[in-house]
Amino acid sequence: MASEDEAIDEACNSYDAVIIGAGVSGMYQLHRLRELGMTALVLEAGTGVGGTWYWNRYPGARFDSESYTYGYSWSSELLAEWDWKERFSPQPENLRYLEFVADKFDLRRDMRFDSRVTAAAYDEEQNCWNVETEDGFRVRATFLITAIGALSVPVLPKIDGIDDFRGPSFHTSHWPKEEVDFTGRRIAVIGTGATAVQLIPEVAKTAGHLTIFQRTPNWCAPLHNGPIERAEMDDIKTRYEEIFETCNSTFAGFEHVPDRRKALEVSHEDRWALWEKLWAEPGFGIWMANFRDVLVNEEANALMSEFAASKIRERVHDQAIAEKLIPTNHGFGTRRVPMETNYYEVYNQDNVELVDLRETPIEAVTETGIRTSDGERPFDLIIYATGFDAVTGAFERIDIRGVDGVELRNVWADGPRTYLGLQIAGFPNLFTLVGPNNAATFCNMPRCIEQNVDWVTDLLGHLRENGLTRAEPTEQAMDDWGEHVVTSGERMLFTKVNSWFTGVNTNIEGHEQRRFLLYAAGLPTYREKADEVVANRYHGFALS
Ligand code: NAP
Repeated sequence: MASEDEAIDEACNSYDAVIIGAGVSGMYQLHRLRELGMTALVLEAGTGVGGTWYWNRYPGARFDSESYTYGYSWSSELLAEWDWKERFSPQPENLRYLEFVADKFDLRRDMRFDSRVTAAAYDEEQNCWNVETEDGFRVRATFLITAIGALSVPVLPKIDGIDDFRGPSFHTSHWPKEEVDFTGRRIAVIGTGATAVQLIPEVAKTAGHLTIFQRTPNWCAPLHNGPIERAEMDDIKTRYEEIFETCNSTFAGFEHVPDRRKALEVSHEDRWALWEKLWAEPGFGIWMANFRDVLVNEEANALMSEFAASKIRERVHDQAIAEKLIPTNHGFGTRRVPMETNYYEVYNQDNVELVDLRETPIEAVTETGIRTSDGERPFDLIIYATGFDAVTGAFERIDIRGVDGVELRNVWADGPRTYLGLQIAGFPNLFTLVGPNNAATFCNMPRCIEQNVDWVTDLLGHLRENGLTRAEPTEQAMDDWGEHVVTSGERMLFTKVNSWFTGVNTNIEGHEQRRFLLYAAGLPTYREKADEVVANRYHGFALS
């Protein structure tokens, strides 16, 4: 860990770079900067490494990506040493993996924990960033790299009386480190997104009574998790190169390759045959390996939705409840598909109740429970699985100021503007890994993160080789990128639906309208564009 005296050195380059966040991106970025011979300090709000896998400790939390496609690809030693035990590895194991990486590459010695960054200001004269944490620690560096994640700011619902409840209550992303016992207790879960859908079957196993408050049903699909036996893991190790190559060639970095046919061009029998096959297979195939028109053509999408609805009706005994669980305001895959293990079966249990908030909205949280329009239900524990201030939220929580003290919050007030999702005009030497309009926002994260980190590292290497110290995109480059983002994304049906993909969050003032937060042209196109910029001598950047 860096000493304070060392860090408060008056010279700008106490460090070449400060990295905010010690999750999957921050850890790899630190490793790459060291390779470049640069000094870097990672500032992390938590008490350990892991980011997403440090914070999200709720029971049931696990990868929705095949474990062996999620791990880092950049160290053959690491690939050889680590064995994934489950196809979709659970959170405790994922955190152990990241801790193993931190140990193996001795990453912690350049990390400062318990260090939530509150402000970062660019000093034009010195060409350096002044960074400050909640506990008053200050550090200066030439480059500032944010590795703060797209889903790292949990949001509680805007409900009257939320502070009045006398029992324990927490957001899934602030799950306590000690075990939470559900046995015999009356438990409320608010929300039915990907988090809740992982959590609910675990709570339902032992809860005395579980009440699920659903505002909008989602189209969920079976995960089909299972063990990875020794022989299979050994085989995976011989195929890593091929696996990562496949991931890097697909739209969102998964090993699921889309079917080249269109749903509307094949017979009903052929359509259902593919859907039955994908439904029975592990992972995101049903979303990512589907017919190529399902996520872009409303008619094809409606047929797919019909198929998914039939699966829900098969699994839920009470057909009135099944109908409540079937989405009616958006088609299959136009919001993030929650991957589930016995989720629908939970609603067949006697100790589980579904409250449809479209019929009986929540009026208030009370001292002892939750009151909806049809009365009050008492609870011992309330769990908020109500999502995040996605993509831009973590940036808005830091007072980031660029040239002339201009605030990033103001620059992005009408929606984010970036170049490649990695840099912003007026904010020289600030690099935003997994930033808005970056392919990493819609991706098997590590596959896109590695691309981001490698690209930024190459640029920093280029600056160094050429005796340069400042990189900033032009306004024109940002405009062009913004247009590419919008035009290439428009065809995707999800851009017409409210969800975190489109930046809508009813719990946050000013986030009622859709904004374009993601990059929906896919990883291969993104990579091609980013490589083109390099080939054209960092076209769109002013380097000096
Ligand atoms: P989310 O998808 O945004 O879901 C939040 C849920 O809370 C929604 O059902 C929402 O209803 C409900 N909600 C919010 N405010 C409410 C209110 N005031 N009253 C009632 N209900 C309210 O959040 P999430 O489930 O945490 O998932 C976020 C993202 O994290 C996922 O899409 C995924 O990308 C990622 N994630 C990944 C994994 C994984 O990879 N293994 C696991 C979990 C999550 P509405 O739909 O009506 O707004």
